[in-house]
Amino acid sequence: MKKLFTLSLLAVAALTGANAADFPVKDKPISIVVPFAAGGPTDRVARDLAEAMRKPLGANVVVENVAGAGGTIGANKVAKASQDGHTVLLHHIGMATSPALYRKMPYNTTDDFEYLGMVNDVPMTLIGRPTLPANNFKELQAWIEQNKGKVNLGNAGLGAASHLCGLMFQSAIKTDMTTVPYKGTAPALNDLMGGQIDLLCDQTTNTTSQIEGKTVKAFAVTTAKRLTTPALKGLPTMQEAGLKGFEVTIWHGLYAPKGTPADVTAKISAALKVALKDPEFIKKQEALGAVVVSDKRVEPAEHKKFVTAEIAKWGPVIQAAGVYAD
Ligand code: ASP
Repeated sequence: MKKLFTLSLLAVAALTGANAADFPVKDKPISIVVPFAAGGPTDRVARDLAEAMRKPLGANVVVENVAGAGGTIGANKVAKASQDGHTVLLHHIGMATSPALYRKMPYNTTDDFEYLGMVNDVPMTLIGRPTLPANNFKELQAWIEQNKGKVNLGNAGLGAASHLCGLMFQSAIKTDMTTVPYKGTAPALNDLMGGQIDLLCDQTTNTTSQIEGKTVKAFAVTTAKRLTTPALKGLPTMQEAGLKGFEVTIWHGLYAPKGTPADVTAKISAALKVALKDPEFIKKQEALGAVVVSDKRVEPAEHKKFVTAEIAKWGPVIQAAGVYAD
């Protein structure tokens, strides 16, 4: 009986193609899939994280951008990827908002992934094109009022953080805007700087240096408290600007396909914990207004609990907005 059990464990390892003894496979890179365009905020976090995880994993860690449909294309690719630990997903709050936005989800957020731990919390900022004739939130609201029906707002597709923030903004000021979807907020930010779109709500990991360089106009932050990052500390919170209850913080987490062996996911989670304590990683993230996770959400079970609570939190907000995709 015991022998049979050993044999079946071996068979499972052979089927899934991995166990901790041969993970990472020599000379095979570990790929962090980013479900948005290169050069954007999720990509930025992934590239810094890849660098910090290389040493503790003892492998080359690369970033692969699989963009589109608000992050669901990249997430779906990882849900169905080989369970050998060499393909993981870095995703943000879209993990929790997509289930309410898409009538037909190609994967199940809670059942189709192994949760590996959370990475950071990131505030968002409401920014505008440099030529916008408004220099603070009050002037922006007046300009939107005067231009009703003509204002457009970029985002990274249905289910993206920028989409959620844009929904909340439109609902808070009771004004509909034309939304312009991109494959990520890197191309959206380019168009904003070029004046093709008017407004964008995006993570500070993408907007801080543009705000600092004054290539965009900044109007507010989405956190409950003002930020301390030098370039952002003068910005009011949405609540200070008069939008009661407007508060949203984006978070990122790391995931492997469901069925990745536990000893392999344990190795990745352990490497993630080392990366989250790496002073260089922490410094880079802090300079962009992000806060590296140092609480219990670094544990996979707590990560899953947190995302489950976020699904319950954002589902009704999105349903109330009446937005969905088939
Ligand atoms: N910031 C984007 C979003 O709106 C995603 C990205 O391009 O990283 O979700």
